[in-house]
Amino acid sequence: MYSQIRTKIEAAGAALIAVSKTHPPQSVLALYEQGQRAFGENRVQEMLEKQEALPKDIDWHLIGHLQTNKVKFIAPFVRMIHSVDSLKLLQEIDKQAAKNGRVIDCLLQFHIAQEESKFGLDEAEARALLDSPEYQNLQHIRLCGVMGMASFSDDMTLVRREFQTLKGIFDTLRKHYFAQAPHFREISMGMSGDWELALEEGSTMLRIGTLLFGAR
Ligand SMILES: *Cc1c(COP(=O)(O)O)cnc(C)c1O
Repeated sequence: MYSQIRTKIEAAGAALIAVSKTHPPQSVLALYEQGQRAFGENRVQEMLEKQEALPKDIDWHLIGHLQTNKVKFIAPFVRMIHSVDSLKLLQEIDKQAAKNGRVIDCLLQFHIAQEESKFGLDEAEARALLDSPEYQNLQHIRLCGVMGMASFSDDMTLVRREFQTLKGIFDTLRKHYFAQAPHFREISMGMSGDWELALEEGSTMLRIGTLLFGAR
């Protein structure tokens, strides 16, 4: 299963993020031994425990909601933060990255699903963030693209439309703010239930847990 999924994703020029949340370090190691290096976690504490226990060449992606008071714990090593949804959070990431002599790659998370509960910006909020002088002063973060979660729904027409919305936001932001920034290239979308659809709609990072590790 793993190698088939990975082959299909890489053939499309995208990357597989193996979402290991709730699964033990041994499960991460099993995929690591098959060559997987990018893993996603949604909780800081769990990421820290695994980062300590596991090989140091793993790329850790924080994909869940991040509280500002926890940024300092992951700033020394995190490879990418997919879930940036406020200027305040971005400023804290910048501050902690500076303390560690790093530039941390981040994605802006957008609310594209119908469910109320999900975190994320809308396009107007993202523009306000990108236009602000506070954002423009940040030296230790690098915005590399966008992230979103589609509705948990069997309605694949709806899910496809939500992915198209995220791709549209990405294209607009790239044109207006990142035309000279080739690193602004990532669209993190697609999970176990909808990754093939996401790939068709232009995803560059697929965050897949259940299909690789089994049910949580
Ligand atoms: C858990 C999680 C995933 C993976 O979900 P699966 O359905 O298990 O593939 C992807 N993205 C985020 C933000 C998650 O929290």
